[in-house]
Amino acid sequence: MSEIKARTMNCGSCGAPLEIISAYTKSMVCPYCDTTNIIEDQGLSPAGKMAKLSDAPGIFSIGRTGTLRGKKFEVLGRLRYGYDEGFWDEWFLQFSDNQAGWVTEEEGECTLFFKEMITSPIENVENLRVGQFVQVEGKKVFITEISDAFIEGGEGELHYKVIPGKEVLHIEGNASGKLVSIEVWPREIEVHTGGPVLYQEIKMNKEENPYN
Ligand SMILES: [Zn+2]
Repeated sequence: MSEIKARTMNCGSCGAPLEIISAYTKSMVCPYCDTTNIIEDQGLSPAGKMAKLSDAPGIFSIGRTGTLRGKKFEVLGRLRYGYDEGFWDEWFLQFSDNQAGWVTEEEGECTLFFKEMITSPIENVENLRVGQFVQVEGKKVFITEISDAFIEGGEGELHYKVIPGKEVLHIEGNASGKLVSIEVWPREIEVHTGGPVLYQEIKMNKEENPYN
């Protein structure tokens, strides 16, 4: 994707040069030493080792490209969240128009999320309950799920400041027909909205994987 300017920064642990493609990337897992690096003004700051993830059974893997609803993308990262009932993976997709999205693939269904700009506080975000409504940027979000999750593993570029093993409060809900995800991290809060994507709407470029 020639439209996007990559930056090269050195791993804060082993010093290997790492190419960072997305402007949204806030941390990067070094493929050589598995250290998670937080991107700071002065360079990459090591934040601990990330557990290696096994290959995913789904359609995505780091470095693969394709189109989604006709828009080109490259898969740049994967984050695995653990919680008491198991885990889920989120894939970081960089689109050719510079948008960044997250796709979750669960039980044969994909959901695509885009980041929302948050300009006002979310009241009482640490103590919300399933079944309540919460105001997020003027929208009334109905809460359907709350999980105390933690970072189980990851690879590639990630658009959170990810610290391996750190806890994250994950809140899911819906508002005006859209899915809303609120993630409360030790150093930031992120809100994404999204909706389902059909497999027919995703076309992976075949030449990179001769077995597909
Ligand atoms: Zn390294």
